[in-house]
Amino acid sequence: MTASLSIVIPVYNEIENLEELIHRCVQMGESLDNPWELVLVDDGSRDGSSERLVEAAADQPDHIKAVILNRNYGQHNAIICGFSHASGDVIVTLDADLQNPPEEIPNLLAEIEKGNDVVGTVRVDRQDSIFRRFASWTINQLVKKTTGVMMHDYGCMLRAYRRPIVEAMLECRERSTFIPVLANSFAKRTSEIDVAHAERSAGTSKYSFMRLINLQFDLLTCMTTFPLRLLTWVGVAISALSVAFGGVLLTLRFILGPEWAAAGVFTLFAVLFFFVGVQFVAMGLLGEYLSRVHNDVRGRPRYFVDSVHGQPMVGEKLPEPEATETKRRLVHS
Ligand code: UDP
Ligand code: MG
Repeated sequence: MTASLSIVIPVYNEIENLEELIHRCVQMGESLDNPWELVLVDDGSRDGSSERLVEAAADQPDHIKAVILNRNYGQHNAIICGFSHASGDVIVTLDADLQNPPEEIPNLLAEIEKGNDVVGTVRVDRQDSIFRRFASWTINQLVKKTTGVMMHDYGCMLRAYRRPIVEAMLECRERSTFIPVLANSFAKRTSEIDVAHAERSAGTSKYSFMRLINLQFDLLTCMTTFPLRLLTWVGVAISALSVAFGGVLLTLRFILGPEWAAAGVFTLFAVLFFFVGVQFVAMGLLGEYLSRVHNDVRGRPRYFVDSVHGQPMVGEKLPEPEATETKRRLVHS
């Protein structure tokens, strides 16, 4: 049986790209033997993207579904929302700015057919700034070290997932997620293929410097609590060193006399400031985890759907994450 395909795309102020995006996705879909649907999630756009998506769903309700969120919840939450509206056996995610060519999707499907749960992609000849490429390289190394899953490019959102992996992700209640890492924590077999990467077709990147930093912290806290443990060990090492250092200072005070000790006051200040700095970094990291725990404890829904248009049906619909939560509450009460 040929697996049905859902293509999930988050859209945030991408009006200039939508025409070509939808056209190329539909063309790609029609070239397949598999049943397919396009799930476009509008993440609170203010440039008319949502109206365009509603029109597209009205034009082709058998293939296009437009899910309109009431405001901006971020790329990964929009994708999670798309997952819960997708009904395919295989779910592919993609960016709306045409940096990831939809024409690569058949290659991803071929890898899934080989028995992989998750197929990642590596951007060949990546068309982004040096700063973005360096940031990605650092993150990829870090993820590899901490998750042990060898993937070369976690930043590329052109990815394919088997439905059980997506179902597992929908079961996760955390609000700060980084989907590629989360998916790999459930996947048994993963693979990667090379894909072409284009420059952003129009518009500007939706990630400011601060948003990128926040995303990297999401990735870190979603993946591991290792930095918290590391803090303890760094703290122990620093304390041990400072005790030894204090011993040395005291000995020198006795050998070289009080004159020397007075001259060393500034060194002590320097040392003090160093420790104060370390403490601040430590508290900052703690804060990163705490703020995420705080968000999860508050248990606010990840998003609110304003409206849904179009009813393509290529398989059974996945459960809504909120519905899953209600079910769980009922079981426990
Ligand atoms: N996006 C979104 N919500 C956001 C930010 C981005 O849905 O708050 C979407 C955006 O429309 C695009 C994808 O996520 O489809 C990737 O965004 P972008 O191209 O700006 O990221 P970059 O390529 O610069 O990493
Ligand atoms: Mg982009």
